[in-house]
Amino acid sequence: MDPKSQLILPTEYAADDSQCIVRCTSEQHRTLERLLYRRYPNEEWGTFFRFGYRKTSWGLVICFVDLLPPNLDDFDPKSPLVEFSPGYINRALGTFDEGDFGIGFIHSHPQGCRPKPSRSDDDMDAYFASEFEKFSNGRPFVSLIASRNADHRRTFSGRCFHRGHWMPVTEWLTCGSDVLRRERSLLAPNKPSDDCAGLERVTELLGESTAPRLRSAVVGIVGCSGLGTPAAHVLARSGIGEFVLVDVGFFKKSNHERNHASRASDLHHSQIPKVELLKRLIHEIRPSAKVICLQADVLDDEVLDQLVRCDLVLGCTDSYYARAALGDIATHFSVPVLDLAVQMGSKDGVLTTQTGEIARYMPGLPCPWCRNRVNAVQIRAETASDEERAQAHAAAQQAMDRGEDGAPYWIGDHPQELTVGYMTSIVGSLEHFK
Ligand SMILES: [Zn+2]
Repeated sequence: MDPKSQLILPTEYAADDSQCIVRCTSEQHRTLERLLYRRYPNEEWGTFFRFGYRKTSWGLVICFVDLLPPNLDDFDPKSPLVEFSPGYINRALGTFDEGDFGIGFIHSHPQGCRPKPSRSDDDMDAYFASEFEKFSNGRPFVSLIASRNADHRRTFSGRCFHRGHWMPVTEWLTCGSDVLRRERSLLAPNKPSDDCAGLERVTELLGESTAPRLRSAVVGIVGCSGLGTPAAHVLARSGIGEFVLVDVGFFKKSNHERNHASRASDLHHSQIPKVELLKRLIHEIRPSAKVICLQADVLDDEVLDQLVRCDLVLGCTDSYYARAALGDIATHFSVPVLDLAVQMGSKDGVLTTQTGEIARYMPGLPCPWCRNRVNAVQIRAETASDEERAQAHAAAQQAMDRGEDGAPYWIGDHPQELTVGYMTSIVGSLEHFK
């Protein structure tokens, strides 16, 4: 058989710069490492795995779901390379019927060998891509190669076949309660230049690798006012390389007291997006930082496309549906989220409550619903149309006229949280230590 005549070789990438990034949890990463290196140091091992994915404006994000590990008789034990039995391939193909997940393959190269695809890896990937396409109904195929040297330093490469084109896997993000790691693929295009100006102290404190790691990090900030601006201010000074700023609103005079990005001259303008003010502040501190401004709602497609690239997302909003959405993004895409909130109360001119809360969402941790930080009635109130509001108001009034509780119909408009700057600044800056 000469299948190569119809195959698209993975050495040619699509011309449009699209990329693929891989995300997994640290627990999945540990399981994978145990399996991949079990025949180390001289022999390879590999496994199929299942992943969820999202097509984005910049390419594709792939999130590990589970491994489809081989049985001992699925590979030829005498071969130092990974050679599959047809039974194993068929078992993997069979899982296409069990859900909408994609299937990928990952194998190791012997210890100390670069994870650069060999000629036989090229042939194998081309074969799998074309074979899987017949059954996958348009789902992508991903192939990854990992290796490590004697002191356990890991490198990887990868590529992804989707709708007739190959794209490089450029980065692999591993997120868990104890680790947040971004690794660049051997096949990724040029590395961004390092601007580590003013980071001497953090380098002395935490070591040489800290400044480049901060430089490679992408932080999403949802809500660019009282909490988001002090958070970004601190992060810009600490050398974070890229920011994704999300806020649908315009700067108002009443924001000036808490917004670290506004100036006196901004008070005379009414149409400055909050994201633009914060971009200006970040660039005054670190001109080389990349800043993506999205004057959009958290539920917009482009916002999700950008948040799934982030190392960390800060929830700096007081809207309940945004909080619920961030909880879902954390769980489904393995994106760590720190959700910041401040509550203040007063009576007769005296402060009675000052609460700052920072909650962390990620796979394996309680979500905003489990933590009682959102509820369905409040979300319904926030997202209702004017007509729905009027109907719910009327239903609540009728219930109360009957002597019943009106709250199940309408909880009332969610009042603006009244907070002042010193408290939002403290909580926004504290995110750094979490
Ligand atoms: Zn190989």
